[in-house]
Amino acid sequence: LFTGLEPIQTDSLLRLIQLAAEDDRPGKIDVGVGVYRTSNGATPILSAIKKAEKILWETQETKAYLGMSGDKKYAELLKPIVFGDDLAQMDGLIGLQTPGGCGALTLGFMLAKAANPATRVLVGTPTWANHPPVIRGAGLEIVEYDYYLKGETRIDFDAMMAAFDAARPGDVALLHGCCHNPTGADLDAGQWAKVRAKCAEKGIIPFVDIAYQGLGDGIDEDAEGLRGLVHACDEVIVAQSCDKNFGVYRDRVGCLFVKTGSEERAKVVNSHIMQIARTMWSMPPDHSAAAVRIILESDELRAEWLDELDMMRGRIVDLRKRIASSDPRLAYIADQKGMFSMMPLSPEQVEKLRIDHAIYMADSGRFNVCGMADEDVDRFCNAVLEAMDG
Ligand code: PMP
Repeated sequence: LFTGLEPIQTDSLLRLIQLAAEDDRPGKIDVGVGVYRTSNGATPILSAIKKAEKILWETQETKAYLGMSGDKKYAELLKPIVFGDDLAQMDGLIGLQTPGGCGALTLGFMLAKAANPATRVLVGTPTWANHPPVIRGAGLEIVEYDYYLKGETRIDFDAMMAAFDAARPGDVALLHGCCHNPTGADLDAGQWAKVRAKCAEKGIIPFVDIAYQGLGDGIDEDAEGLRGLVHACDEVIVAQSCDKNFGVYRDRVGCLFVKTGSEERAKVVNSHIMQIARTMWSMPPDHSAAAVRIILESDELRAEWLDELDMMRGRIVDLRKRIASSDPRLAYIADQKGMFSMMPLSPEQVEKLRIDHAIYMADSGRFNVCGMADEDVDRFCNAVLEAMDG
């Protein structure tokens, strides 16, 4: 059976993680992997999560199956966070717990395939490296357009609009809700307005990936673009993740939301979602979804989580300002959002940083803004500027 298999080239980011792990030079800076780090370079468990886990440990009486819908209350409590209080009440809004944002993306694209096998997906490049394989894995065609001009450090909005103009009714448009990965370049309010008008006019179905809500400008601010789309369009798919904003990465906590338009339609769509989920994971894992539910059920723990989220966002914003103030060529980094931005470096310059300075970032120049300790920021900036000049 296996003799015919050809080896698959390891993802360059996974190779980078391995290289960084093997490098024991003092002063190594690993800004390749996408986890939040404190000023000391640690990724601690949020105190709201620790407290919720304690409550869970004390009160959970069984580990019997929860059923295919997972923790229903978890999905209900997330709705107002993602959609705001009003939209969260709309008829026909499905919410289903998934194993991380990846699970939600896979399920959402497989749903699109089930609904219309000819669905095409508009994808702005560069995008998160996992998007194309997930979309192709669902059997869907990708239509690429240029989203970001790396050399000019700005969004190519004309190219984006041209791609939307050329779209067919029923095409799906993958959009980053906030904190664009890998560029940090988010649409502004005017651009979101044009995108939603175009989706409504052309019958394009928005598919919003929101994996970093609260790490850009704030919980509500980061969801404004998404909420505008939900107002404007009859059908919307949302892949959400709690893995970053609750810091529970390895526990795989996410949710798929679908605006279907009516309770009747929602029943049919839901039956397909369940059928697809059944073939993949049958039931989502429980632990941290239950902890998130416990946090959102308690005013006290919710407030504590929001404070911790503010703190993480504050550190990201401060680091962005520090990096931006090091040189006018890096000033754009202060205007971008979330964990990632891209340095205008060639793969050769990125490699030189690795060899000369033990600085690890993706070949594309993407780096995790909050991946470095405070004491490493100046050294990081100086090395990047040296590489840019070299
Ligand atoms: N979407 C984007 C843009 C991401 O960057 C990530 C995580 N790197 C995800 C989705 C998936 O997140 P999760 O770890 O919850 O599967």
